[in-house]
Amino acid sequence: MRAILTYHSVDSSGSPISIGEHELRTHIKFFASRSVQVVPLEWLHKVPDDRHALAITFDDGFQNFADIAWPHLKHQDLPVTLFVPTARLGGTNDWGGTKKKVPTMPLMSWETVAKLVEKGLSLGSHSSTHPHLEKLDDAGLEREIAGSSAEIEKRTGVKPKAFCYPFGTFDDRCVAVAKKHYEVAVTTEFAALSPTPDLHRLPRLDAYYWRGGGLDRWGSGGFARKVSWHAFGRRIRAAVGGG
Ligand SMILES: [Zn+2]
Repeated sequence: MRAILTYHSVDSSGSPISIGEHELRTHIKFFASRSVQVVPLEWLHKVPDDRHALAITFDDGFQNFADIAWPHLKHQDLPVTLFVPTARLGGTNDWGGTKKKVPTMPLMSWETVAKLVEKGLSLGSHSSTHPHLEKLDDAGLEREIAGSSAEIEKRTGVKPKAFCYPFGTFDDRCVAVAKKHYEVAVTTEFAALSPTPDLHRLPRLDAYYWRGGGLDRWGSGGFARKVSWHAFGRRIRAAVGGG
């Protein structure tokens, strides 16, 4: 099984975007055991489909990534992609646009992000302002998707290879623009990679669902059943408007 894991914030609030430090450390211990290959995001689709492999992603650029997650990941030399909304850095995640109860927390400054990039962090774009992209006109899409790539390159000297659709919402126009500017783009569709994945609609598994453990059963029948079960639950909640 090949799949991309999604994290957001490392804090003790218990919110839908949060994981506690202790729980994250349990996950990192599993990654560090190398019982499953941990590879950079844009390599994952090149790993043969019959292997067990994963890629680690963090969304939004919270300050607690720098304070808590990064030191543990770096210590174990684990590749990670951090998706940042480029015009929001230095501020907070107060962009609204979701029904989830999410705490408002500080994001990293560009200075902090640039320092981590020097130490080996891989940056991806999470747009410029974290909007619902499908609501924008073509010029807006260009600004958010291409403009954020240019900003990351200007700030860090590295052109990002990956894009992450804010809120996991997008339409075909968004995908077409992402294709022009990035090697891969990730969604919030809850699934492992198929044998021949669409590189600009890559699904991910929200690590939130393994807060209580069980990540070390990666690739087992029980693990696959848990993925199908949560994917089903998420579809139902989306259908009744709760998602
Ligand atoms: Zn986000």
